Formats: sequence, structure tokens, C-alpha cells
Amino acid sequence: MTNVAVAVPTAERRPGYAPPPIVGEGFPLTEGQRRLLALASELGRERFAPRAAQYDRDASFPVENFDDLREAGLLRICVPASHGGLGADILTYAIVAAELGRHCGATALSWNMHVSSTLWTGALADDLDMTSEMRAEHERHRALHFERIARHGRIYAQPFSEGSAAAAGRAPFGTLAAKVDGGWVLNGKKIFASLSGAADYYGILCTEDRPDRSVRDTLYMAVPADAPGFSIVGEWDPLGMRATVSRTLILKDVFVADDAQLMPRGLYYQAASRWPHMFLTLSPAYMGIAQAAYDFTVAYLRGEAPGTPPVKRRMYPTKQIAVAEMRIRLEQTRTLFLRAFAEAKVDPSKDERLRAYAAQHTVMENANELCRLAIRTCGGQSMMRSLPLERLYRDSRCGSLMLPWTAELCLDRIGREALYEAGEVDD
Ligand SMILES: Cc1cc2nc3c(=O)[nH]c(=O)nc-3n(C[C@H](O)[C@H](O)[C@H](O)COP(=O)(O)OP(=O)(O)OC[C@H]3O[C@@H](n4cnc5c(N)ncnc54)[C@H](O)[C@@H]3O)c2cc1C
Repeated sequence: MTNVAVAVPTAERRPGYAPPPIVGEGFPLTEGQRRLLALASELGRERFAPRAAQYDRDASFPVENFDDLREAGLLRICVPASHGGLGADILTYAIVAAELGRHCGATALSWNMHVSSTLWTGALADDLDMTSEMRAEHERHRALHFERIARHGRIYAQPFSEGSAAAAGRAPFGTLAAKVDGGWVLNGKKIFASLSGAADYYGILCTEDRPDRSVRDTLYMAVPADAPGFSIVGEWDPLGMRATVSRTLILKDVFVADDAQLMPRGLYYQAASRWPHMFLTLSPAYMGIAQAAYDFTVAYLRGEAPGTPPVKRRMYPTKQIAVAEMRIRLEQTRTLFLRAFAEAKVDPSKDERLRAYAAQHTVMENANELCRLAIRTCGGQSMMRSLPLERLYRDSRCGSLMLPWTAELCLDRIGREALYEAGEVDD
């Protein structure tokens, strides 16, 4: 029986594998995208990756990473340029987030919650129908919200999950907002609020408290972290994405002023119906994890992975086949990911919408599959906690669970919408 591992003298050890850009070589990028990707790559490699294990172990929020994101201007990446931001579109956001996800998935996922609050109220809201009064009101409110982020570096969380059918878009949110003089009073509970305890504002999705309320009555409110009646409760000790610190929020008679409304009445419902790719923004962090699992495997099998002995395992046909399978799956995932984000817009065609669900499903499931293959082929020594692979594996498991487009719900939507046109029913 031959020994599986072949030792290479340290002196001969040369890091030869150069991980490709997250979009792959040759993908057409604007100058701005190229600059942002380079920035994300540098931050990720030099700052986030070395800190990731500790934040994961402690299940603590990556405060230093968010300080770095703030300093680099990335907290305002999707704030419109007219409001002091970088004005990035959703595709640019997605590729930068995927690059960050390569180095720390939990940071990229938490950053998504913050950035989405600016994307939804910014570029996305601009595409939606509003009366001139609504648009003027929205302009006033979002100016405040953007100023907090662009000028003061504030952080927003995005808690919509409640443990009911609401986060899947199938029922009104149970958190209620009652209109009072000069503002609103909120009551309810949110589960899995990433950035809990770290955010300055919580973008709460709730339902206007009125008779016969429906999903059309959804409101989107910025609740300050120090609002009386607002509290964070519960344990946070999950399998993966531990540094998101997604604890439970309680809102008990929380008063917010009128200008806390991040979208005018009815606009969130319109956005969710007409701009479905808004929910695809959860996938980039996991695209990054998929790439990281592949990168790790190639470096490991070449005997070049940092923190491992210089042992080559690449000469075995089974390893080569496993890497080939991983590469094919990675390319399929990346291609669909980039295409779906490139076609994100208001009122996409049915074909584009189904592709967006397919992209979400593919990224989330393949990220986990790539991590699984990586551990299987690299072997026992690769899954030690001193190496990033086991964290990638645990983090990747969370992707398919993210509502409203969980892997199950993507299948549900694709199957139903592929077989039925709008309004069709069976006899
Ligand atoms: C690391 C992490 C971070 C998160 N961060 C946030 C955050 O910042 N903000 C936030 O709002 N949420 C966040 N979530 C929550 C996430 O989006 C889901 O809401 C959560 O995982 C749902 O868990 P549950 O057990 O309550 O799911 P359940 O509602 O019990 O659903 C279980 C499964 O059943 C299926 N299902 C659910 N509803 C339906 C339906 N109506 N019809 C058919 N099938 C259905 C889905 O596939 C779902 O995965 C986070 C989750 C994780 C794991």
C-alpha cells in the first residue's frame, strides 16, 4: 500500500496557485467595479480572513471588519451618489459581496443586511410607481437615512423573519405598527436579526395595524437601537454564520417618528412583487464561500494551503476527478449567479424571474455541496478548526435556509410558476 501523502521539502515549497477573481478571468468589468473588487479583495485577504476564526469561535460580531468597511466607504456602496454614496448597482454590489464572502461569510452576509436597506430605498425604489406626494415624502425620509450612513457611518440591520409564514411572503407580518400623532407605535417580535446589538438602526418590516390587514399593508421602519421598548433577547450559539449574531428582537410599544418610514405605504409590497431580485442579495456571501472551498482544495492538494504541512496530494486520479467535479459545479454556479444579477430589474420577464430562483437555489445548494466535496477529497487533516474549511462547511449549510427564497421555496416557486400562467387554475 503506498502512502497517500507525498512530502515536499519546505525549501521547494512555492505558492503557485493564484486564486482567480470571483467573477472569473475575462469577465467584463467597468473601471469602478474593478476598483471595488480590488478593494474588497485586499480587505478580505488582509483583514477579514485572519480574524474570521476568532469571531466564529466566539459567535461575536465582526466589529473591526465593519470599522474597515466604513473606512473604505463600503457601508455606503449602494447609497446613491446624489446622497454621498458610491451609487453601485445590484450587480456591482453582488460581486463585491461575493469577494468579501470568500474571506468571511458572516461579514458578507451581515453586510448584505445593511446594504439591502440602502439598495431597496435607493435604486430599487426609484424604479417603482409613486404619486408625486409619495415620492416627495420618500425623498425626505431617505435623505435622513442616507445621511446617517454616508456621513455618520451608521449601520442598519434588516430583520423581517418572525417564525411565521410572513417572511416567506405568504402572510402579513405579525409585528404591527399603529398610527399615532407624529409617528407610529410598533409591537412585535423578530427572530434571526443579524447584526443584533451591533446595528444602530433596525429596518423592521411590519404591518399597518388596521382592520382586514394584508401583505399590501407592509411597512418598512427604521427603529433606533436605543428606542425605549426595544430589546434584544435570547441565546446565539448556532451551527454556522455565527458571527452574524442573529438574536431575537422584542418591540414593546416602541414609538418612532413619521420619518422612520423607509418606504411609503404600499411600496414594499410593490417592490417585492415587481423587483423580485431584491431577495437574491442573500446569495453573494455564499457564492464567495463556494469559491473559497474550491480555492482551499486546490491549494491543499498542491501542498500550499497556509497552516498545513507541505504535502502534495494532487497526483491521485481520484483527487483530480473530485477537483474537476468541483470546478464544473463552481462554473455552473458562477455563470448563473452573474447572469441572474445582470438581468435584475423592475418587472423582469417570467423567464428572468424563474432564472433568479434557479440562481438562488444553485448558489445556496452548491456552496454546501462544494464544501462537502472539499472535505471529502482533502481528508481528515483538512477539517481541523485551525483551517478555514470546516467553517466554510458550516457557514455554507445556512444558505438554503434563508427566507424568503429558501431552497425549498425556490423549488416550490419554479415548479408552480413554470406550470401555471398568471390566473390559471385547474378544474
Ligand atoms: C445565519 C442566519 C442569519 C439570518 N439573518 C437574518 C436576518 O438578518 N434577517 C431576517 O429577517 N432573517 C434572517 N435569517 C432568518 C432566515 O431568513 C429564515 O427566516 C430562518 O432561517 C427561518 O427559520 P425557521 O426555522 O423559522 O423556518 P420556518 O419558517 O419554520 O421554515 C422552515 C422551512 O420550511 C419552508 N417554508 C417556510 N415557509 C413556507 C411556506 N409558507 N410554504 C412552504 N414552505 C415553507 C422553508 O423551506 C423553510 O426553510 C437568518 C438565518 C440564518 C440561518
